[in-house]
Amino acid sequence: MKIHNNYSLSKLNTFGISVNARFFVEVNNEQGLKEIFSAPEFKNSKKLFLGGGSNVLFTKDFDGLVILNKLKGIEVLKEDSKNVAIRCMGGDIWHDLVIFATDRGLWGIENLSLIPGTVGAAPMQNIGAYGAELKDVLQNVEAYSVSDGVKKVFSNGECEFGYRDSIFKNELKGKYFITAITLKLSKIPKPNLSYKILREFLEKSARNAPGIAGAGRNKIVSYTPKDISDAVSRIRKSKLPDPAIIPNAGSFFKNIFVSGEKMKELLAIYPEMPTFEENKIIKIPSGWLIEQCGWKGKRLGNVGVHERQAVVLVNYGSASGAEVLALADKIIAEVKEKFGLELVPEVNLIQ
Ligand code: NAP
Repeated sequence: MKIHNNYSLSKLNTFGISVNARFFVEVNNEQGLKEIFSAPEFKNSKKLFLGGGSNVLFTKDFDGLVILNKLKGIEVLKEDSKNVAIRCMGGDIWHDLVIFATDRGLWGIENLSLIPGTVGAAPMQNIGAYGAELKDVLQNVEAYSVSDGVKKVFSNGECEFGYRDSIFKNELKGKYFITAITLKLSKIPKPNLSYKILREFLEKSARNAPGIAGAGRNKIVSYTPKDISDAVSRIRKSKLPDPAIIPNAGSFFKNIFVSGEKMKELLAIYPEMPTFEENKIIKIPSGWLIEQCGWKGKRLGNVGVHERQAVVLVNYGSASGAEVLALADKIIAEVKEKFGLELVPEVNLIQ
């Protein structure tokens, strides 16, 4: 394994922030990982694990060891008439796993199509989209303890999943390196069409080409996981900026959850405010709050708020992490002032 010094991370984070890591290593097998965690020279170094770099914002050079997850491989562990257990290594691209599943007609992760990043990063924030979440299909997470290089298998419950949240972002932050996950996917159709935009997109496709995606009005619709995956991919491509063209890290802020009382208070002033009830609490899309403060499509020097989705902050070329953070802080302050609500970054801030 080659340890690099002063290694540029600019191509390893989708925000395209130009920073260096004091030490850098790529890990492509579990033995290598154990060696790194037991090496005396790195015992006391700060460590950062990178996958696709699609959910981080670097604000300065990283004075420690960056470990890039390159562990690869997808395998079917078990199969019966209803379910299939699939194990996937952490360095694989998340969407490649979606393709593996949907190509085999398996249900469970089709709504999570095209979420950027690696498989190992997926449990960190319990990735979610269009009404589905990783926690709904995850069986376990394999990870190595940074302090002693011992492997632990976390059950779904032990991951303490929440909304874009897990134990790996909280109590165990920086303490475990995720090497693999196992999912339980279904052979029995389980389409999740709870999001209107997805339902409408599929219905429109079915009307225009009844042969490919079920049928039109008044007929029984039978979408495949691939139909849904393709629809999600097309919606995402039409709304979200491609980091290869405009560097960004997807949703910069989490959505906000409020009590029913606070919702009523806000609806009295902003009757058009979108709200969604989830587990008896009310979710308000952060993008809407940011848009109401006039930020949608606004540019501030090298950084800005995306023109089609206000929850996405973008780098127009040579922004520093500090510039992105300054923009985020301005937005947080204005949303707080106008609505009394506190936006929380979804992106992992490396400060
Ligand atoms: P959108 O369609 O513009 O909708 C705005 C927000 O409204 C979303 O954030 C979504 O919350 C919420 N929403 C819409 N319909 C809903 C329903 N029927 N029930 C509950 N909540 C509803 O959102 P977008 O920015 O294009 O994103 C589309 C999906 O991709 C969202 O689910 C978003 O979370 C997801 N996404 C996930 C990641 C990630 O995991 N890192 C990154 C980018 C986008 P939710 O965000 O809670 O779904």
